[in-house]
Amino acid sequence: DSTIAKIAAGEVIERPASVVKELVENSLDAGANRIDVTVSAGGTDLIRVADDGVGMDEANAVRAVEQHTTSKISSIDDLEAGVGTLGFRGEALHTIGAVSRMTIETRPQSGADVGTEVRVEGGDVTDVAPVGRAPGTTVTVTDLFFNTPARRKYLKRDATEFAHVNRIVSRYALANPDVAISLTHDDNEVFATAGTGDRKGAVLSVYGRDVATSMIDVEAEPDGPITAIRGLVSDPETTRSGTEYVSTYVNGRYVRAGELRDAIVSAYGKQLAADRYPFAVLFLSVPPDTVDVNVHPRKMAVRFDEESAVTDAVEAAVREALLDHGL
Ligand code: ADP
Ligand code: MG
Repeated sequence: DSTIAKIAAGEVIERPASVVKELVENSLDAGANRIDVTVSAGGTDLIRVADDGVGMDEANAVRAVEQHTTSKISSIDDLEAGVGTLGFRGEALHTIGAVSRMTIETRPQSGADVGTEVRVEGGDVTDVAPVGRAPGTTVTVTDLFFNTPARRKYLKRDATEFAHVNRIVSRYALANPDVAISLTHDDNEVFATAGTGDRKGAVLSVYGRDVATSMIDVEAEPDGPITAIRGLVSDPETTRSGTEYVSTYVNGRYVRAGELRDAIVSAYGKQLAADRYPFAVLFLSVPPDTVDVNVHPRKMAVRFDEESAVTDAVEAAVREALLDHGL
């Protein structure tokens, strides 16, 4: 019932950025080549995520907003194997719908020449109607937390909420350079990646030309617990005072990992000024049975079986990349 959904929403849907995260993950899961994220007032008034992915027929669109419905798990084994898709299981659309006014417009890639619009208000489906649109899915969420005033009250200033949204969308844009991802806030385009698969191109779109031209390729296939380390780090002159621009991903998933950040920083040795951090977008591939990625949407934590071997390998890979560039 919608009470349970509201409680679940409190756990997982904390702010506009959490909605954006779930919707973008769904679009990626749907195989989209293009994802356009639009928010206004930091996402507190409106969040819209439009994609050109597989889309849904009417029955699936209605089912998608019901409780515990996922098309992505067909057995308990899938659940235990942690399936290859992102997001938590069959809860997101239902919980978002319970705490907002949500409209889903969708049309499958094949088998339907008309789309479906499903309207949900505070968890209740209020309307299901045909709609003309291109294949793909657009989810629009307005008035987030309109029916949970205590939670609405905890939202920060629009600029702060938007900073969270920007961070989330940037993360996915950097990790998915083969998908054209754009972010628009209050009618201003904040960035748009080309979706051509070029990692440096994605960095250019998200962080700008000065940062992109400073980026050095990291490419290593170490022995031991990491099978590959790939990505980009900035030269030691191109830094920021916060850790926000050090992005690490394990098996495609963004993780917040102080030990990986420290390993990257120590690769620079004394070249980095005190309390400065480089830009980094680093992807680690590790055998799934040697890592525990906590998928709780607010934690994004990671634990490696052999942590020091992993951090040593990361430090060595970054140092080698810097040395290759005479740094
Ligand atoms: P989950 O992603 O864990 O399956 P969600 O609540 O996020 O749960 O989504 C429910 C279902 O709705 C998905 O399993 C999928 O079938 C469908 N769905 C959601 N978003 C999209 C989308 N953008 N494109 C196509 N199908 C979608
Ligand atoms: Mg999902």
